[in-house]
Amino acid sequence: MKKLFKCSVCGFVYEGDDAPDYCPKCEAPKEKFAQLDEEAANKIYASDRTNDIHMELIQLSMRIVELCEEGIKINLDPPCVSAFTKAKN
Ligand SMILES: [Zn+2]
Repeated sequence: MKKLFKCSVCGFVYEGDDAPDYCPKCEAPKEKFAQLDEEAANKIYASDRTNDIHMELIQLSMRIVELCEEGIKINLDPPCVSAFTKAKN
């Protein structure tokens, strides 16, 4: 498993076997980086995963709205339109 290093100047987190020579975000030198302990690293990974889940949910909900709008536009009969409208909201 790779290690995580955090820039003490800007908070940028770098993943790798060793800290970078310079921070890609604020250009602070390598000495400004500290390796995160396992607990802190796991928290970062968990937050990455929840960010991914968030993004996927947003994309899915946008797709649901698209499908509902298509169904509403087709306007086959009131129960259908009502179901699509409910789902959209
Ligand atoms: Zn930095």
